[in-house]
Amino acid sequence: MSERYARQVLFYGIGREGQKTLMEKTAVLVGCGALGCTSANLLVRSGIKCLKIIDRDYIEESNLQRQSLFDEEDLKQNLPKAIAAQKKLQKANSLIQVESFVADLNPSNIETLLQDAHLVVDGTDNFETRFLINDYCVKNGIPWIYGACIGSTGLTMNIIPSKTPCLRCMLENVPPFGTTETCDTEGIIAPIASMIASVQVAEALKILTHNYDVVSKGLLKIDLWRNEIKRIFTEDIKDKTGCIVCSRHHYEFLTKDTCSTITTLCGRNAIQILPPNGSKLDLTKLATRLEKVGKISYNSFLLRLKTGKYELTIFPDGRSIISGTNDLATAKGLYAKYIGM
Ligand SMILES: [Zn+2]
Repeated sequence: MSERYARQVLFYGIGREGQKTLMEKTAVLVGCGALGCTSANLLVRSGIKCLKIIDRDYIEESNLQRQSLFDEEDLKQNLPKAIAAQKKLQKANSLIQVESFVADLNPSNIETLLQDAHLVVDGTDNFETRFLINDYCVKNGIPWIYGACIGSTGLTMNIIPSKTPCLRCMLENVPPFGTTETCDTEGIIAPIASMIASVQVAEALKILTHNYDVVSKGLLKIDLWRNEIKRIFTEDIKDKTGCIVCSRHHYEFLTKDTCSTITTLCGRNAIQILPPNGSKLDLTKLATRLEKVGKISYNSFLLRLKTGKYELTIFPDGRSIISGTNDLATAKGLYAKYIGM
């Protein structure tokens, strides 16, 4: 075993056997924002076998304050977060497999993207994706670690199917759009994201090395500004609610009907549009076609079109993020006009 993991092997909770076990595991990170950057960094350095990073977004200037894997050069190059993260992480540990997927996790691709996961780590920023992860993981018996933060407050909880309550036990339905705060409306300080992600990865190390006796129980809430740490025990919730997912095995987020093809990206004044499955775009051809419409920049991962007050970011699979509007009809209209799929 390489010197690289010597200090982790020395640690009583892991040891040589734990490290060997860890080196056989695949973790999937969904969302590579503030939480995801820290989680990915810690997981890759710990020496798991493979980390898969799924993220639908590109780097923006306001991300640099807290998303520790990205720098000014990545921003200049218009890189998608998953691609920039993979490049950095592979340099930190070339012995392990780091895979990136510039994609929106949804019911049509979740089976493929999560199929060999031993663990899923939540770095998302929305409940629709979390409930989708929850459905898939509970159905397939895969542990996942919920994480969220905003302002100076963060939450995390382990969901170990058939052992702990699931996310739906805790929150019966998706909080309606606009009723939950987001980092884009309420702000966030970087330390809370690092802290929650660090807790998530400590739990990941326990779960991946089968140290279930020390796995954290219940929902952990930390507020770094008000200096509060609270643990909310959840053990008896499952029996009380008769949860639709873990008691009744009804996985509604995995069915196509609940899949949004148009999603409002909360607080960002932007809308994401998903084309039909299997769509493919030639970005070079599209660039030539759109040259006269506005300012174009593109690389092999995305094309950006600035026209008037709108900015369209278009990916090779036809997925687009249209910023400058919160209006679904306007976004749809722009998509039809310029991409026309
Ligand atoms: Zn449940």
